[in-house]
Amino acid sequence: MTNAWKTYSEQEKKEVMDFNDSYIDFLSKGKTERLCNQYIIELAKGFGYRNINEVIENHETLKPQDKVYFNMMNKSVALIHIGNEPIEKGLNIVGAHIDSPRLDLKQHPLFETDGLAFFDTHYYGGIKKYQWLAMPLSLYGVVCLKDGTTVDVCIGDQEGDPVFCITDLLPHLASDQMKKGAGEFIEGDNMDLIIASIPANDEEKDAVKKNVLNILKEMYGIEEEDFVSAEFEIVPFGKAHSAGLDHSMVLAYGQDDRVCAYTSLVAMLEQGDLDRTAAALLVDKEEIGSVGATGMHSRFFENMIAEVLEAMGDYSDLKVRRALQNSYALSNDVVAAHDPNYASVSSPHENMGQFGHGLAFAKYTGSRGKSGSNDSNPEYIAKLRKIFEEANVIWQTSELGRVDQGGGGTIAYILANYGMQVIDSGVALQSMHAPFELSSKADVYEAKKAYSAFIKNCK
Ligand code: MN
Ligand code: MN
Repeated sequence: MTNAWKTYSEQEKKEVMDFNDSYIDFLSKGKTERLCNQYIIELAKGFGYRNINEVIENHETLKPQDKVYFNMMNKSVALIHIGNEPIEKGLNIVGAHIDSPRLDLKQHPLFETDGLAFFDTHYYGGIKKYQWLAMPLSLYGVVCLKDGTTVDVCIGDQEGDPVFCITDLLPHLASDQMKKGAGEFIEGDNMDLIIASIPANDEEKDAVKKNVLNILKEMYGIEEEDFVSAEFEIVPFGKAHSAGLDHSMVLAYGQDDRVCAYTSLVAMLEQGDLDRTAAALLVDKEEIGSVGATGMHSRFFENMIAEVLEAMGDYSDLKVRRALQNSYALSNDVVAAHDPNYASVSSPHENMGQFGHGLAFAKYTGSRGKSGSNDSNPEYIAKLRKIFEEANVIWQTSELGRVDQGGGGTIAYILANYGMQVIDSGVALQSMHAPFELSSKADVYEAKKAYSAFIKNCK
């Protein structure tokens, strides 16, 4: 395995650092899937991408080198850059997810107990609940009103904003708590966000809650009943950080999988004219099984290909199927990096991704004997090896960890259902799914380089 840092000239090292500055900015601004969706679409527009719904409405014609995007319910986005070859010959697809583990508010979140007001939460994705205690948290969300308008809420990350927290028990009184396993350390239903403590003046019962409602009415014009048509996410407070004395790493919330989303996006946007059509899928709901209309199981991407073919005057059902089956895909999602502090769960003998050793490929993921995995074909891997060698990409392979310790999955198997070639590839993280995850800047940079070479040259 090659340590990427050893290969860089001073100029390249600067490029790595500069690229990661833009990545850090993306992480700081895109703390929910909705905010990522907005950021991605704004950026894509600047590179000439147009909303496919406008193309459809105006009965416009699409031709090679045109670029379109599809916004799926403000939570997922697909980009297509049409190549010179017929689309039925297949696309080069990079896919990643923009949802991250977090705490969501329940439908009736607001309650008062013992003179304090709280928001009740329901966690989203695989978290270690104890990691979210006694740390500053920010609140993001949308409230959809009956008149059809939507109120955006973001509290915590702007200068001067208050933050929130879920309290933990002081060690002095924790003798019972400390005997519990980490899974039972705090119950999901006790993950209550403390939000206020001042009672409204002229109220007897639930006076603090009343005061919260007054504040919400004043700031956002919303009533308690409006929470039922709202979606709120609680995420760690603050910006993404450059980490390490040598600035070689990124410490930030949401790197699973915004690291692959961002690198895939930039790789897509920086393309000049293409032979094969390219697509980037930046999708929601991966952390809970890729379900629902905005997850990868939804058929919006297939429909988008049909719409593009139609706008080119070339639609048939068979062509859509051929386009999908003849495609090549990189399912870009993070893998677990070898962590010397937890070496016992690493896969032995160079089968574990390591910081600074480039983009990590996982031929298969899954758990308990590859269950639920897309096991990629060696014929395809050979093709990719050649592309990456020619583009001087530094890459490695990775298992998810020690065979019997567990595992996981990505969107790879869903794309593979169309009969296309798919492999998992991504940046290796330490502390994956923790409120702050750690990555290597060299790996982030190599990921972008690899995705770019793949989009341009895979055929
Ligand atoms: Mn992921
Ligand atoms: Mn994940």
